[in-house]
This record gives sequence, structure tokens and C-alpha cells, in this order.
Amino acid sequence: MAQCLFCRIAAGEIPAQKVYEDDAVLAFRDINPQAPVHILVIPKAHVESAACITPENSHLVARCFQVIAQLGSQLEGGFRVVSNCGPNAGQTVPHLHFHLLGGAQLAVQMA
Ligand code: 5GP
Ligand code: ZN
Repeated sequence: MAQCLFCRIAAGEIPAQKVYEDDAVLAFRDINPQAPVHILVIPKAHVESAACITPENSHLVARCFQVIAQLGSQLEGGFRVVSNCGPNAGQTVPHLHFHLLGGAQLAVQMA
């Protein structure tokens, strides 16, 4: 999607602090971190949100979680994965992404 922010980051049109990249997945640092470590893990292909995961594209989610496991296992004490979906959850970028948060004790309350 030409105008999608994360598609443009995935295409290299907008710079990002990349921490991992392969043919299907990109991980980069969130521009407004909510924890000492705050990484966004995205499929390079455009999927709008967690509500749009299908049998045809679910392999992309598995690929994202392989990267999450790899990056998260380096975070002492564990980590949290969040995916906001739709306005009630506060999704601001309509391209599926997983927030990987860690590096400190995180808030117990999730909502
Ligand atoms: P959402 O609110 O949709 O769950 O998460 C979107 C995230 O993208 C936010 O945490 C926001 O800080 C981050 N973000 C928005 N624009 C940019 C950008 O241009 N670069 C980077 N690295 N992160 C961004
Ligand atoms: Zn996109």
C-alpha cells in the first residue's frame, strides 16, 4: 500500500532504526518508546490488523513471532507483546504490528 507508513518503512522509503530484517519481517525501534526496549515487529506485506489474519496470511504472524522469540529471549526478565486492533484499542497505524516491550518491570494492569 503506497501511502501506508509501515509499508513505506518496510520499503526503505522512510528511515527507521532497524534491529532485524529478513524477506518477510522487519523489526525496528518505536519512535515514541513506552519502555526501555520498545520494538515494532511487522510483516513486510500489508495486513491491516489482527482482525485481518486469515489462513492465507497467518504464516506471516508465525514469522513475526519467530522474530519476537529471537529478540525477546535477549531481554532479561521477560517481555510483553501487544497488538492494538481498531479504535477502541488505540491502533494508530493500520498495518499489523506487534509491540515488543521489555527492559524493565512493566505495568501489571493491561487495560
Ligand atoms: P499503534 O498505536 O498503532 O498500536 O502503534 C503504532 C506505533 O507506531 C506507536 O507506538 C508509534 O509511536 C509508532 N510510530 C508511529 N510513527 C512511527 C514512525 O514513523 N517511526 C517509528 N519507528 N515508529 C512510529
Ligand atoms: Zn502497510
